[in-house]
Amino acid sequence: MGLIVQKFGGTSVRDAERIFNVARIVTETYDAGNDVVVVVSAQGDTTDDLIEKAAEINSNPSKREMDVLLSTGEQISISLLAMAIEKLGYPVVSLTGRQAGFLTQTNYGNARIKKIDTHRLHRELDKHRIVVVAGFQGLNRFDDITTLGRGGSDTSAVALAAVLHADLCQIYTDVDGVYTADPRIVKNAKKLDEISFDEMLELASLGAQVLHNRSVEMAKKYGVKMEVVSSLERKPGTKVKEAVKVEKLLVRGVAKDDDVARIAVVGLPDDPGVAFKVFTLMAKKKINVDIILQSIGRHNTKDISFTVPAGQLDLAKEALEENLEELGADHIDAAGSFSKVSIVGAGMQSNPGVAAKMFEALYEANVNIHMISTSEIKISVLIDRADSNKALNAVHDAFEF
Ligand code: ADP
Ligand code: ASP
Ligand code: MG
Repeated sequence: MGLIVQKFGGTSVRDAERIFNVARIVTETYDAGNDVVVVVSAQGDTTDDLIEKAAEINSNPSKREMDVLLSTGEQISISLLAMAIEKLGYPVVSLTGRQAGFLTQTNYGNARIKKIDTHRLHRELDKHRIVVVAGFQGLNRFDDITTLGRGGSDTSAVALAAVLHADLCQIYTDVDGVYTADPRIVKNAKKLDEISFDEMLELASLGAQVLHNRSVEMAKKYGVKMEVVSSLERKPGTKVKEAVKVEKLLVRGVAKDDDVARIAVVGLPDDPGVAFKVFTLMAKKKINVDIILQSIGRHNTKDISFTVPAGQLDLAKEALEENLEELGADHIDAAGSFSKVSIVGAGMQSNPGVAAKMFEALYEANVNIHMISTSEIKISVLIDRADSNKALNAVHDAFEF
């Protein structure tokens, strides 16, 4: 007996049949004597469909209005699930993010949760109701609806588990756990019984969308017991926890991010302060710069290239071109269609052979590497997007899991 937070993603609430499937999972948990708080995402592809609908009206809508629109997807799901639970004969109430007490920072589209006012939640739980909360949304101090970024319902769930001191936070999805690579792309991917917060955070940040990276960050910070399970099959999933048993494994998993663009600032003077100028321009526009490469200076000039999210390419290019003279650069080279493939594992830091093995696998698959970046826990390469699935498979199969 305890308090359990259960989160169900879009495919898990796709249609009436799936909603009743979720209602049964929830009510079984309730019947076992638990308080249950449920977090749901928008049904199926609703969020993508809403984004398309907005584009039909305005190619550059304000972020505030986008959040008003996108938050409606989750509102549909909470009411439908509550109706299904009602029909099964259980006490239930649905709450929007705002009603559930989610207060966020002011920025629209990717707001962080600042606080959850739990009064209403506790009132409902005291009445022994199942509480169904809309994920992905909150309210900022201007009393405006905000959303938490794509995939953000996971973070809503973990945040609730943290403030309510839940005994467990279950993330129900359309795969039966966290795998060594996306099982939809890599056929040899293996399911992990458990994974550490640090490794999961790295995988999620490098593109493994099975968990929103901020949900993992938060679970680690507040010690939330978390697991990823299938909503369609009843079997054990993957536990995400502080430390996992020590194994010989060097690499825990591989991930890819297909949303990568590259910019090169060509012919910069080989002087101090040049990188400072380039990246100050990017920072001013709030552009997320990732991998950076600077060429060796030759004939008093050098090039700096770096990657940005594909959606920020135009903004970055514009900012640099406007300042071409001030930077003393010759020209800007911008290209959109790249992918980043990464290997992640806490055991790789003292093993130089790991990088060589990854590069060998890419060479054998005839994949050209454009950029490389390493840290203690990961190695990433930038490649052409057309090669990304082939590269993910090749790199995955080069290691033992
Ligand atoms: P939900 O709608 O339930 O939030 P998502 O689509 O956000 O589900 O995340 C689940 C998907 O994540 C899976 O269908 C799978 O294709 C993908 N995925 C990517 N990397 C992994 C991984 N390492 N392990 C499991 N699933 C992964
Ligand atoms: N519906 C939102 C999205 O599609 C949030 C989520 O699914 O977690 O990104
Ligand atoms: Mg998701």
